[in-house]
Amino acid sequence: MYRILKAEMLADKIYLMDVEAPRIAKACQPGEFVIVKMDDRGERIPLTICDYNRDKGTITIVFQTVGASTEKMADLKNRGQL
Ligand SMILES: Cc1cc2nc3c(=O)[nH]c(=O)nc-3n(C[C@H](O)[C@H](O)[C@H](O)COP(=O)(O)OP(=O)(O)OC[C@H]3O[C@@H](n4cnc5c(N)ncnc54)[C@H](O)[C@@H]3O)c2cc1C
Repeated sequence: MYRILKAEMLADKIYLMDVEAPRIAKACQPGEFVIVKMDDRGERIPLTICDYNRDKGTITIVFQTVGASTEKMADLKNRGQL
């Protein structure tokens, strides 16, 4: 389980999230992506690492809601759970 530290709606259907992921933040390189699952049975979806902070141990993802998994992720923000 990776904690979402920040969730922001940038524009209609476009969301930014900062995720606590120290091991990835330490080693990631430009152009790399992460595979995200919303839960144990969730679909595996690739999302590009837009930014990272090696000191804080966080990565930033920006995604557009297009289907089931990205809608679920956006719901966390829209339902006020983040
Ligand atoms: C290497 C890689 C990096 C990626 N990085 C990002 C990223 O940083 N941000 C981001 O928002 N997305 C990114 N994507 C796309 C992202 O993985 C998909 O949008 C996501 O898997 C959709 O999952 P879903 O369950 O929400 O939608 P699904 O239920 O899988 O798809 C719903 C419907 O939308 C269509 N669809 C899916 N994706 C797109 C799309 N991008 N454009 C148009 N139609 C689409 C499908 O054909 C399907 O009909 C990346 C994809 C790859 C391969």
